[in-house]
Amino acid sequence: MVEYLLWLLLPVAAASGWWAARRSYKKHQAAGSTDRPQPGYFKGLNYILNEQPDKAIEVFVEMVQVDSETVETHLALGNLFRKRGEVDRAIRIHQNLIARPTLNVDQRAHALAELGQDYMSAGLLDRAENIFSELVDNPQYRALALRFLKDIYQSEQEWDKAIKVLRSMTELSRKDRNQIIAQYYCELAEQAHENNDLSLVKRHLKQAIGVDPQCARASLLQGKLEWDSGNVKNALRCYDRFVSQSPQLSDEVIERVYACHQQLGTVNKFLANLGRLPETKLGPLTRRLELRLHTSTSDEEDYRDAVWTSLQERPTLSLTESWLELLLDGKTVELHEELQKLLAVIQRLTEQNKGYRCQHCGYVAKSLHWLCPSCKHWDSTRPINVLDS
Ligand SMILES: [Zn+2]
Repeated sequence: MVEYLLWLLLPVAAASGWWAARRSYKKHQAAGSTDRPQPGYFKGLNYILNEQPDKAIEVFVEMVQVDSETVETHLALGNLFRKRGEVDRAIRIHQNLIARPTLNVDQRAHALAELGQDYMSAGLLDRAENIFSELVDNPQYRALALRFLKDIYQSEQEWDKAIKVLRSMTELSRKDRNQIIAQYYCELAEQAHENNDLSLVKRHLKQAIGVDPQCARASLLQGKLEWDSGNVKNALRCYDRFVSQSPQLSDEVIERVYACHQQLGTVNKFLANLGRLPETKLGPLTRRLELRLHTSTSDEEDYRDAVWTSLQERPTLSLTESWLELLLDGKTVELHEELQKLLAVIQRLTEQNKGYRCQHCGYVAKSLHWLCPSCKHWDSTRPINVLDS
């Protein structure tokens, strides 16, 4: 629909180019010039008459003298081209505008803002960065410039600069962006980890928690750091915090949490902690582990009953799979072959259900992304088998 409207607008844009050219030519004549009309004037007119508005625009853009009266036309044309995906043309128009010494300060800033957006669309991030860094001091374009600078630094993974920009955005609009700033600090921590600079990793994680005490990712990274250093007690504290902050992601750490409790001889505490979490939000792995441990002192039949009870309360594919596996283990089952077939189906369904989905845009990925590759939201992907079960 938008595309259709733009197509409708094209002849209008061409006509306005023609009108601007005509005015420019008339002014030229009024000033006493005896020059003949520029050849492009008729060429452009010809394109309009032959219903070739695209070519007409090209011609008029090249010939029209830019003055204070035609600037708006140029800006509108450039904008139109960018929206139609013809970024090269948009860039040419806006560069042409900026090169004119006759532009006043406001017009130049407007043209720069447009050119910056052209560069963004073309993926020329370095050039866009230069422009928006210039515009950031202009009160009228500050918010826009900061927004694009944030996008640029985020995709270039220049997290220090991105943090500064987000702080400026917060000052400007008073909107809290601490959750995203914490994600940036986590990114810095991961970069430092790759460089084996552990004290820097710790500092960045501290900063992340400083701006957002609820940052689950920072808890997860801290836990990993402590675990790798052999500090089981500290690791457990971080992992526990992670699970309570983001129970839907409990499967990421649950086996390690259990390993910590085993080493510390506190498995009972593990079960008590799990019992306090909202069961509907726990991952399938966590749920099965919990059921298994609850019945660890009893026999298999008790465990099977516990799984069956849990399955009735909140059926999930993963739990159905566990229950079928248990049934097959039992020697009393006569429908063994049929159950095997059913199990194969369920296993395929569970496999299909593995992965993570962005709760914001629906993007599906095989691994956990803290930044959604599609909609660029932070901390919005969750395991599919938790969301759908
Ligand atoms: Zn998304």
